[in-house]
Formats: sequence, structure tokens, C-alpha cells
Amino acid sequence: MRVEGVRGMRDILPEETLLWQNLEAEIRTAFSLYGYGEIRVPLVERVELFSRGVGEETEVVDKQMYVFPDRKGLQLALRPEATASVVRAYVEHGLYARGDLAKLYYLGPMFRYEKPQLGRQRQFHQYGVEAIGSLDPALDAEVMDLAWHLMERLLVREPSSEVRDPELRDEPTANGPRSTDHGLLLRVNSIGCRDDRPAYREALRGYFAAHEEELCPECRRRLATNPLRILDCKEERCRTLSRGAPRSVDHLCPSCRQHFADVQANLQALGLAHELDPTLVRGLDYYTRTVFELCSRDLGAQDALLGGGRYDGLVELLGGPPTPAVGFAGGMERLVIVVSAHHGATEASEPALDLYLVPIGDEARREGAKLMAALRRSGISADTDYMGRSVRKAMTVAGRSARYAAILGQNELARGEIKLKDLASGEEKGIGLAELVTSPHSFVR
Ligand code: AMP
Repeated sequence: MRVEGVRGMRDILPEETLLWQNLEAEIRTAFSLYGYGEIRVPLVERVELFSRGVGEETEVVDKQMYVFPDRKGLQLALRPEATASVVRAYVEHGLYARGDLAKLYYLGPMFRYEKPQLGRQRQFHQYGVEAIGSLDPALDAEVMDLAWHLMERLLVREPSSEVRDPELRDEPTANGPRSTDHGLLLRVNSIGCRDDRPAYREALRGYFAAHEEELCPECRRRLATNPLRILDCKEERCRTLSRGAPRSVDHLCPSCRQHFADVQANLQALGLAHELDPTLVRGLDYYTRTVFELCSRDLGAQDALLGGGRYDGLVELLGGPPTPAVGFAGGMERLVIVVSAHHGATEASEPALDLYLVPIGDEARREGAKLMAALRRSGISADTDYMGRSVRKAMTVAGRSARYAAILGQNELARGEIKLKDLASGEEKGIGLAELVTSPHSFVR
């Protein structure tokens, strides 16, 4: 009986994992350049971590979470995102007691029961950072700079002079939003603090109540419980209405207004192009003050490469002391789409192996196995045929998978030699087996 995989949960095969590994390595490098250390949190948490942390009314918790009881009836959830888990770990391990900013990053799978489409999976992978312990607006800007820097590394290889040019510093606000040549756009907004929320919520409620019959049934319910969530409803009729809704930036207290002005001044000082987007609220309840998204033209409808912002109340909500924090998370699947669109298939053409062994006869196979074991211990990747292929067919496999073919026949074996063929130049030479084992790197370069 054939058992199929689960819808929206993809296998990633070796041809593709090579790109994933490269991206993950770049992500780790970028994160460590900004002082972040890796944290690994479990895939499974108690369900209330997300219902309290992310919010009962959010689509992620209300409609998309995988929830199941364990054998003792404890309600568990597959994590739909990692910020709540990182904050739980921060509180549980008392990291606040160190009295310093905790800069933590993670990479890993997340689970949401969504309608699968391009760039939207049920098991997807996120990379993200959390900077917990400071309200400094310069930190918001640094986090956004890290997001930009990461994309520069991945999409243009060299830091983009267009973005960094100090001459252009004033352009984003003076001349309106500016997208760059690699199709990226940073959208920024402020949704204020908890104290600002009641007045803003009432303003939204007033506006949407006047259009109640135009809202979807779900949003009619949200009108009473959490009208902010109407702003990220995906129904077209609600989206159209949302465009005319009161703006959060018009409901900020003086300190949030100052904070947002400082964040923008810091972005300008860093030369980061950005667009003010008053409709941006993000779909998770924990956000406060700054929210942002980095979007790409190459992604179509699901255009957000990454999103984040401040969550100054979450540590306290999850049992820690009042502690401000800021972070972002991005989707690996979307990164793969965008990076592939930018670089084409060119990078996949490097052969995966250093050497492919073509033995002729049983004795050569045995000697060859010993040779490969020795080469691998010297750091040379080697493989051979286990499918009973002819020499000609084995050479074809060598040609597409390795830089060198090593042919070991009866004659070579009798002389204690092996024939090494450089598959790029076609050059062939006989070398001593013992020599190849003692100094392999002088032959396989
Ligand atoms: P969120 O955790 O909802 O703020 O999303 C942060 C980022 O994760 C998005 O900008 C996407 O890049 C990615 N993402 C979220 N949901 C999915 C999904 N279902 N499939 C693939 N990527 C996703």
C-alpha cells in the first residue's frame, strides 16, 4: 500500500537541499554578525502558550493551529511560530536576570493549517531573531538593517550601494517610497502601545460598526471581540473596507509617537529605504509600536519575505518581568523562490563529488572500497557504482556527478596504480595507489 505525504507538507530533495544549506549558512553568518546566538526550542508546546501569547482571536491560533492531546490529555500544539516559544524559554531560564539584552536566533519548521499555495505551506520553515530587553529605537532600526543586510547577501551578493549611498538618505521620505533594483521594499508602521490600544480599538469599532453589513461573518464577530484583527482579514470585502479605516499612527501616545519618529530617524541615518504603510498591522496580537515587513516583487500575492516588530508586553504576559523586545521572522520557502528567481539554476551545476571510482572486476571493487575509505578520511568526497553498471555507463555517471573519475582495472591493480581522469579537461594520468592514499590532495584538487 502506498502511503502519501500530508498535503501542504513537502519533502525537500537533495537537489534542493543544497540551496537550503547555502541559505541557512548565510543566515547564520548574518545573524552572528549582529551578535545573535542560536536558541533551539521544541516543536511542541502547551497550547495556552500560543492562545495567550499570539492571541485567541488571531487566525493563526483560531483557525490554523495543529492541536492534539498527549496520552495524559494535556493539550499540546505544533508551534505555528517561534517568538512565543523563545520568550517562554527566556522567562523559564531566567535570562532577564543577566540584566543584558538577549539576542537570540532560530531556524526551523513551523506548522499552520492553511490553504497550500506557492510560498504557503502547512509545514514551512522560518528563520528569525528576537532581541529581548531594550526599548531603544536604534534597536528597531538595527533589526531592520539586519533584515536588509541578509537580503543583500542573498540577492545581490555585494552590499547594495544604492541603498547605502548617504546621498540618498533623505530620498525615501522626501520623494516617496523607493524600491531597489533587487525588488525589495521595507514597509513600516507603528501600532502603538497597550495604553493606546483601547482608543484605537474604539475608533476601529466605530468605523466598522457603521459598515457592519459589508463585513464577512467572521469579522462581524471580531467587531465585538478584537476589531484590530479585521484589518488582517483576507476576505476582499473586508480588505476594501479596511483601506478607509482609522490609522494607528493617528492614535499614538506622545511616547509612542516619539519612539516611531526616532525609529524612522535611525532608519534614515542607516540609509535604509522604507515606506510608511498605515494599513500594516501584522496578524499576531503581541505586536506593539513598530511593525514592519520586507516584501519582494518576485513573490506575487504572498509578497512578504519576512515580517516583525516590537512585542513589549509579551515577556510579562508569559510570566516574566516587564521587558521590551523586538524581532522578525522570515519564510525559507519564499526565500528559496526569490533567490532562485535572482540567480537562476547556475549555482546547482557544480559537481557534488570530488571523485567517482570506476572499478573493473571484483578484486578492484574490494581494493577500491579500501581506497575510498582512506580518501574520505582525508576529506575527499568519493562514491562508486552499486547498481552493476557497465564501465561506459559508470563513466557517464562520473561525468555528471564528480570532478575526477578514478579507473581501477586488473592491469592497473597489478602495477599498484590507478588511472585518474580530470573530467573537466579530459586529461588522464596513471598514479601510484599508495601515493594517492598518502597525499591525495596533490592529485585531487
Ligand atoms: P508571521 O509569522 O505570520 O509573521 O510570518 C513571517 C513570515 O513567515 C512571512 O513573511 C512568510 O515569509 C513566512 N510564512 C508565514 N506563513 C507561512 C506559510 N504558511 N508558508 C510559508 N511561509 C510562511
